[in-house]
Amino acid sequence: MKIDVLTLFPEMIDQALSYSIPNRAQEKGHASVKAHQLRHWAIDKHGNVDDTPYGGGPGMILRVDVADAALEAVDHGHTAHRVMLSPDGDQFDQKMAEEFSKKEALVFLCGRYEGFDARIEEYVDQKVSIGPYVLSGGELPTLVIIDSILRLIPGVLGNVASLAEETFETDLTEYPQYTRPNIYKGKGIPDILLTGHHAEIAKWRLSKRRSASNR
Ligand code: SAM
Repeated sequence: MKIDVLTLFPEMIDQALSYSIPNRAQEKGHASVKAHQLRHWAIDKHGNVDDTPYGGGPGMILRVDVADAALEAVDHGHTAHRVMLSPDGDQFDQKMAEEFSKKEALVFLCGRYEGFDARIEEYVDQKVSIGPYVLSGGELPTLVIIDSILRLIPGVLGNVASLAEETFETDLTEYPQYTRPNIYKGKGIPDILLTGHHAEIAKWRLSKRRSASNR
């Protein structure tokens, strides 16, 4: 999978994906993630990529000509699934993560300041939100999305069983898990887990899983 990220802060993307599973996904060749500095497509030598809103109002707006040039440069001919991050986009969830994990190529366009010129929507395939709140930029939402999709690519996780039982993989949450110490500050673990009866343990675990959609 090829992922390109268009951002004013490429170091945020590079840094955050250089650990643990996202790093392993890239090192093993399952995905290549490249963060591009949007100012590379600036309209002038001062690196300007945004401007004031027509009609007045606070803040700066990312220019459509800059966004179009950047998208065309990293995704010539528009073969990738292009996503722009926006608080009013489609709500990201595990189902969308699974859909994205099957794409050959993805491009993420991160907003900053007051957001995007509305005409940019014509150059992307989807507007996506990670939740009903406003963040300062599209980098953290992009990282959330990339992290959740990389772990779904076959071969990225060492133990595929861990995926199958994870919360949201079915409509059930994961069951409660415990590790050593057996007793901590007087609180023990459920006796069933010490019996070694795998069928009974599986039954108990199933009984502890709850509906993931009605939490
Ligand atoms: N003025 C915009 C509004 O009211 O919708 C908010 C702009 S926000 C400060 C700057 C950028 O952060 C957005 O363009 C978007 O890329 C990103 N962003 C903020 N919250 C987000 C969210 N919940 N989901 C996805 N992207 C978000």
